[in-house]
Amino acid sequence: MNLPNYVSGQWKEGTGPGDALIDPVTGEELARISSKDIDVQAALNHARTKGVPSLQSLTYAQRAELLGKLGELLTSNRDEYFRISLLNSGANAADASFDVDGALYTMKFFAKIGKPLGEGKILKEGAVLPLSKTNVFSAQHFLEPAKGAAIFINAFNFPAWGLCEKAAPALLAGVPIVVKPASPTAWLTHKMVEDIVKSRILPEGAISMVVGSARDLLDHVREGDTVSFTGSADTAARIRSNENILRRSVRVNIEADSINSAILGPDVTPGTDLFDLFVREVVREMTLKAGQKCTAIRRILVPRAQMKSLGEAISARLAGTKVGNPRNAEVKMGPVVNKAQQTSCLEGLRKLKEECSVIFGGDEKFQPVDADREKSAFVQPTLLACNDGLEAKYVHDVEVFGPAATLVAYDSEENLIAIARRGLGSLVASIFSNDPNFLRNVILGIGDMHGRLVVVDSSVGGQHTGHGNVVPSCLHGGPGRAGGGEELAGLRALLLYHRRFVVQGPPSLLTELASIAADASLLYA
Ligand code: NAP
Repeated sequence: MNLPNYVSGQWKEGTGPGDALIDPVTGEELARISSKDIDVQAALNHARTKGVPSLQSLTYAQRAELLGKLGELLTSNRDEYFRISLLNSGANAADASFDVDGALYTMKFFAKIGKPLGEGKILKEGAVLPLSKTNVFSAQHFLEPAKGAAIFINAFNFPAWGLCEKAAPALLAGVPIVVKPASPTAWLTHKMVEDIVKSRILPEGAISMVVGSARDLLDHVREGDTVSFTGSADTAARIRSNENILRRSVRVNIEADSINSAILGPDVTPGTDLFDLFVREVVREMTLKAGQKCTAIRRILVPRAQMKSLGEAISARLAGTKVGNPRNAEVKMGPVVNKAQQTSCLEGLRKLKEECSVIFGGDEKFQPVDADREKSAFVQPTLLACNDGLEAKYVHDVEVFGPAATLVAYDSEENLIAIARRGLGSLVASIFSNDPNFLRNVILGIGDMHGRLVVVDSSVGGQHTGHGNVVPSCLHGGPGRAGGGEELAGLRALLLYHRRFVVQGPPSLLTELASIAADASLLYA
């Protein structure tokens, strides 16, 4: 099966052998993709010349209605998306749900929150500012949807959510999308885009898709376009420094990898509710989607006195987690996405082992349940321990994108904050403690280096949304190594696809422009 590109309003197959999409459990080939000889420049032009006018002739409320229809359409095909997730990502039902249901929820969420923007076509920001003594000359700031394409370059681990969390705000803003899914798992994104195109819900030019490596895509982006990238820090650096992007000052949002931490407070001891919640959360983060989440816990920062008891508690749970073919009902954790990722995980673990001891797992020849070790791409859940968090190098730097995490001992609040900051910018940290002073000091000590802080005390208990779970109402992104991007955060997500300008002129003109504008303060409601 060859999966075609959808460009310039047409399905087109790339030439050449392309890349194979593989079942990571059986090693079988599922489909092939190629973007060779696809005219991506024409595809981007089509989005700009057809998609921009067709979407931007609509109001925010009309576009929100389209998102609602897309949400219903995608929900009606949910079973097929789960089937593809199992085949192409080795995802069990929980893994597939995290991606697919997260995608459907996000689409419907933006449909709902977009409605109050109503009949507006642009946004007005703040009050009219008088600029002359007699008030004949004033100023008003506006935000207008960009008249360019939104180009999404996505990571392999969220083929469904990665599409929808970017598409929903871009389309609501009135900006047409061109998505390039990561090659290894492109099938699911492809199927969703195929369903959307067939439904004819979106106007002409609003959605395009390039499957395959498409390495020349960025050479054709222009001033009005927006590039939204999710992937590794290494690729992010390459995208950020692309000459065409630099020369044209193309707006780029980067969501990269990060070495996230979970912090156990000094007041939390074995046998308490918070200790058990913490253990459960760490194991969930290590095993859900086989640890292939950008937000997953990589460093577990623990008071030195609790290293042993915490290590034992996590190991006991990991020992009870069956790893293997997700078609077996007893299996709780599946494979990583392919052999290349397996190799990369094992290489990363070897580095970590140079400065850490292995508490659980770490067997490169580990035998998964109901799967051929040679053909499949499994990594054994692995817990490591590091005694000197400030001296360690790899622990803060090597992202093992799989089921692995490292316990790191800390000795004081100051020491803990210094160790957490060694991640040099992370998407998320979670802090489990009942001590308000400790919580406040840690939040103020590491907040600027994180996009999201999850605080769990006994009053929250099990009702938190999860360390690794990105909810569309809250900010997703992080500084420094995490890419410096900002996504979601409700309607604030629309800012990426708008351009701000100020009009200085007669107040009557400003009033007229304001009559077609929704109030930008709604973005912060
Ligand atoms: P990746 O290798 O960096 O690839 C990401 C995307 O970039 C893919 O679509 C890839 O295409 C494309 N790409 C690679 N080189 C390119 C180039 N020179 N020009 C244009 N596009 C290029 O990342 P991945 O392995 O797919 O994903 C795993 C990583 O993503 C992890 O490090 C994870 O932490 C991170 N991630 C971050 C977030 C977040 O929100 N912060 C979310 C999910 C994942 P091909 O697949 O065709 O090579």
